[in-house]
Amino acid sequence: AQASAEASGSDAVRVLRRVFGYDSFRGEQQQIIEHVVRGGDALVLMPTGGGKSLCYQIPALVRDGTGVVVSPLIALMQDQVDALTALGVRAGFLNSTQDPYQRQAVEQAFLDGALDLLYLAPERLRTEGTQRLLDRGTVSLFAIDEAHCVSQWGHDFRPDYLALSMLHERWPDVPRIALTATATEATHGEIAARLGLQDARHFVASFDRPNIQYRIVPKNNALKQLLELIRTEHDGDAGVVYCLSRSSVEKTAAFLVEQGIDAVPYHAGMDAASRAANQARFLREDGVVVVATIAFGMGIDKPDVRFVAHLDLPKSVEGYYQETGRAGRDGEPATAWLAYGLQDVVQQRKMIEGSEGDEAYRRSLSQHLDAMLALCETVDCRRVRLLAYFGQAGEPCGNCDTCLAPAESWDGTVAAQKLLSTVWRLARERRQKFGAGQIIDILQGKKTAKVIQFDHDALSVFGVGADLSTAEWRGVVRQLLALGLLAVEGDYGTLVLTEASGEVLGGRRSVPMRKEAAPVAAAGSGKR
Ligand code: ADP
Ligand code: ZN
Repeated sequence: AQASAEASGSDAVRVLRRVFGYDSFRGEQQQIIEHVVRGGDALVLMPTGGGKSLCYQIPALVRDGTGVVVSPLIALMQDQVDALTALGVRAGFLNSTQDPYQRQAVEQAFLDGALDLLYLAPERLRTEGTQRLLDRGTVSLFAIDEAHCVSQWGHDFRPDYLALSMLHERWPDVPRIALTATATEATHGEIAARLGLQDARHFVASFDRPNIQYRIVPKNNALKQLLELIRTEHDGDAGVVYCLSRSSVEKTAAFLVEQGIDAVPYHAGMDAASRAANQARFLREDGVVVVATIAFGMGIDKPDVRFVAHLDLPKSVEGYYQETGRAGRDGEPATAWLAYGLQDVVQQRKMIEGSEGDEAYRRSLSQHLDAMLALCETVDCRRVRLLAYFGQAGEPCGNCDTCLAPAESWDGTVAAQKLLSTVWRLARERRQKFGAGQIIDILQGKKTAKVIQFDHDALSVFGVGADLSTAEWRGVVRQLLALGLLAVEGDYGTLVLTEASGEVLGGRRSVPMRKEAAPVAAAGSGKR
């Protein structure tokens, strides 16, 4: 029978203790659970590691019938079901990895009322066959996990999620709970609108993860910097290293292994068996480092990940926060470390320019990147910036790089003018475009072969920037790109002016810049 409002609270606590073996609820878990047990709809925004699963698992156990969990994580369904089965919870899943007999057995168990939880891939729920099956049994609730996958411009968009708006129309009496760890104002609104959850109760947890130390460093030799981080601070710790491409995953993993670190690669191009084996080693053994593309991680629950390192710039703050959130779920100190350089900006701007999709889509990618760049270049507390991005207020944290070693800023206006006018002159007087390397050589007055070949030592700007080092000039280019005061074009990453460049050249806009921290000694193995 459906629990009454009074009974539901104690039922929930009893299940928490008896089934899951925990003493008390965390944060708003209890309110969420009681609300759903009573039949209410809920939209739950909670950071990774916050404890979202219990919010639908316990109501499914307390209410009559089977809780249907929609999840995009097909690869993890078996693990999730195994874990629940071990606790004595009757759970099953339906997805494309099963043969017809396995599927039929699960369907029968559902019809017999012998399942507390049924995990479904969204594409399965769309089929008329599955919908008729659900009609013939008793559904206690729908849980929509990773609900941000409904967000069309988000980083994990799954078209099948759009069809989930039909749940309410087809089963108006079944409560729905949507959960996600991605929660900007925009995504939040989009989830509510697309899933028809405007009238649901919204539970928004604090997104702060105080035990994670956020650090963003200028990239000069990423592999060497990473090795230094592991050796000096995380020797023998479990960690995740994110790279953008499969080839850099392979290269980085091989490098770490060479250096005696227990590292394994993980990306979508590997065969399923080695991928599963590497994931299992990471989960079950101590101190394994996974080097992965962003294909790795959604739904992975390992409490003692001590560091998450990014060797390439993430495409959005949402993605970055979700990836770094995999560190330190046990509440112990952990590090989120990102190495970021000029080449990242050039590469990502190029990718956006060359991406398929319409103007609005590209603009959205650009806005995501701009927010990420603003986080990288800020001289304020990283945590305050991150939380502000998720619409939450915060105080300077004392546990991020800018709090621990306040970044100095300097007036980069004159340097910006020198650089922009070099780009302008080349375009205007020579009808030429060049990448950052050549522009910087000209500014520093270096008579390289290429400078002489193009007669660039005859330019009036030749040598006007000898006061700054190459690293400093690259920082100037990077920050101008981040601010949209300079742009890259074409396959060679040539620099061009933007409309806003004129404001700087005309002296109408000043450009405060972040001082480059002293680079980690950068000799040795090849640059990435
Ligand atoms: P999320 O899905 O929000 O990332 P999970 O549901 O996977 O988080 O929970 C993260 C970890 O916290 C899991 O190991 C889970 O067992 C644990 N956990 C959740 N709720 C509680 C609680 N009330 N008490 C103790 N541990 C909890
Ligand atoms: Zn801080």
